[in-house]
Amino acid sequence: MKAIQNLWRMTCGPALNLAPVEGEVAADVVVIGGGFTGLSAALHLAESGVRVVLLEAETIGHGGSGRNVGLVNAGLWTPPDEVEAAMGVADGQRLNAALAAGPELVFDLISRHGIDCEAVRNGTLHLAHSAAGLRDLRSRHEQQVRRQAPVRLLDAAETARRVGSDRFAGALWDGRAGTIQPLAYAMGLARAAIAAGAKIHEASPATSIERDGGQWTVRTATGKVRAERLIQATNGYAAGAARPGPFTPVHYFQLATEPLSPAQRGSILPGGEGCWDTATVMTSYRLDRAGRLLLGSVGNLEDLGARVHRNWARRRIAATFPSLAGIGIEAAWSGRIAMTGDHMPKVAEIGPGAVSIWGYSGRGISPGTVFGRAAAGWAMGDSDTFPVPIRPEQPETLPKLRALYYETGAVLTHMLPA
Ligand SMILES: Cc1cc2nc3c(=O)[nH]c(=O)nc-3n(C[C@H](O)[C@H](O)[C@H](O)COP(=O)(O)OP(=O)(O)OC[C@H]3O[C@@H](n4cnc5c(N)ncnc54)[C@H](O)[C@@H]3O)c2cc1C
Repeated sequence: MKAIQNLWRMTCGPALNLAPVEGEVAADVVVIGGGFTGLSAALHLAESGVRVVLLEAETIGHGGSGRNVGLVNAGLWTPPDEVEAAMGVADGQRLNAALAAGPELVFDLISRHGIDCEAVRNGTLHLAHSAAGLRDLRSRHEQQVRRQAPVRLLDAAETARRVGSDRFAGALWDGRAGTIQPLAYAMGLARAAIAAGAKIHEASPATSIERDGGQWTVRTATGKVRAERLIQATNGYAAGAARPGPFTPVHYFQLATEPLSPAQRGSILPGGEGCWDTATVMTSYRLDRAGRLLLGSVGNLEDLGARVHRNWARRRIAATFPSLAGIGIEAAWSGRIAMTGDHMPKVAEIGPGAVSIWGYSGRGISPGTVFGRAAAGWAMGDSDTFPVPIRPEQPETLPKLRALYYETGAVLTHMLPA
């Protein structure tokens, strides 16, 4: 295994090999960024007959969309009551409702476009790592029940049976949610968008973005796109001329084991739910289609703490699932989360007829797909499609210091017993 090896790249099937943009191209809308947000925008625009060109600096899914855990969740990390308290009741209710329906949109697109992305919709388990974690889950359960969500609070015995480990005090099961192979989903969205008429180019980093003659001109090393509307969907991976919206970078890593034996699969997550726990430095657990266990946590495998994170993850696998002690590791990688101060996604107008969308704060599969569809509506002239108000960018408080705090906290936590 290479030092950094992304499982999703290993198992996503053949590359798309989309040619860079060449010469001058005219479009109605130009999208910068080939993750869930940009691809969902391109797909929904193309399906409405709009001429759309999407430029991706590297390959489709190069950013968070090709590196994440694959938990298709309903809503944000922040519980819905807190979303309403932070945004005001009307705006908060609107965002909560839009994101509660997010998994429906994702799984509907997957089935409508026949996207082969290991989609499993058996719900997710939010695992109580302690008595305090269980109190948090009780509150989340009560808030979701009030909103008629299909959730269930599981006791410790039921949780142990579902997870295959007795380390948790209980769990909150959410029947709206599920798991996917995220890179395969992104690539499937790209294929669907191309089939609907979108033009998508890889290896096409935007090197300049200018407004002249009432149009946007986006240049790359090999060509340029002119369009009336511009959607910047670069989230935590903005490069070149794409100016990032303000966020704090927080890294998250995953290790994937070799496929479990049939006996191990029968006892570890036999229902195939994706899971994460209530700890401040959280841990996630899920299986892929081949039966590998993926364990993730906060931390950067391309930084000084890499060895600490990797060793802790091996210890955590053995401590949680003793039958897996010493199991081979086939892949290990990390990615950058764009965390905003209030953990809410942002939409800002960055010029006439241009928006930037970012800040999913670690919850971007359903939200990115929802916000991408909303961006398509906005580009077609509906000024009220985004589930959050379009607001000027607000600076983040000391993002570098906060990033250091998160990474150092994760390293110190991962030095402790697993
Ligand atoms: C490790 C990790 C785990 C996560 N786990 C989950 C999870 O389980 N569930 C969940 O819902 N969310 C999760 N998230 C969050 C989710 O992955 C992101 O919110 C989501 O992928 C954001 O999608 P996006 O399209 O907005 O941005 P991205 O997927 O980051 O795409 C941005 C793209 O823009 C391109 N780009 C940048 N600059 C330019 C330029 N100048 N020109 C052209 N292209 C450019 C980049 O190359 C990149 O491909 C996780 C994130 C990480 C990092």
